[in-house]
Amino acid sequence: MSPSETSALVLFSGGQDSTVCLAWALERHARVETVGIAYGQRHAVELDVRPRVLTRLRREWPRWAVRLGDDHMLDIATLGAIGQTAMTTDTAIEMTTAGVPNTFVPGRNLVFFTYAAALGYRRGIHTLIGGMCETDYSGYPDCRNDTLQTLAKTLSLGMARDVTIETPLMWIDKAGTWALAETLGGSGFVDLIVEDTHTCYLGDRTHRHVWGYGCGTCPACDLRSKGWERWQKGKT
Ligand code: ZN
Repeated sequence: MSPSETSALVLFSGGQDSTVCLAWALERHARVETVGIAYGQRHAVELDVRPRVLTRLRREWPRWAVRLGDDHMLDIATLGAIGQTAMTTDTAIEMTTAGVPNTFVPGRNLVFFTYAAALGYRRGIHTLIGGMCETDYSGYPDCRNDTLQTLAKTLSLGMARDVTIETPLMWIDKAGTWALAETLGGSGFVDLIVEDTHTCYLGDRTHRHVWGYGCGTCPACDLRSKGWERWQKGKT
């Protein structure tokens, strides 16, 4: 299939990574739809910023606007009820004895992609895109390339369609994600990431840093800010 005929469904949370993935998809696929998944996250800030990001993409990047299709929301709060981790309850964020941060929601990305594949099946879309990354989140086993490519194979067999999972951030770090954002949409897109995307685990939108809003100390803020610093240093 030529790029003009391809379509993709992007797991879009409103965070930095999924917003960069969305722009990456819009550069490559003729039709791009988005899906947000509510799973009982303890802060719905990310989900709140989603429509704002989509509106700005449509308004400020006409070449993306013509390709950007429907946005979908799926509510699977049951996953949060099962998970009982720091992402869905008010537990302090720390490393567990299993060697993964307690922000890990067991099986989350497997469930997300399975739901996305089911939605994509109905929409005639068989390419699924997500912002998982081995480089920064190697403690999360469901972010690994092996996990996701094996899942794509399982979904293909289970749905009797060729389901593809694309993960453009898999092998780059957070500095690389900032650089990719600039390559895709210029300084205006970097500005959108800073102003409107949300990553902070604590849902803090009151503290504004050069790299965006957040508490500045949780693991997500730490990655985002350090990535920004490395990216800035690399430019000089
Ligand atoms: Zn934070």
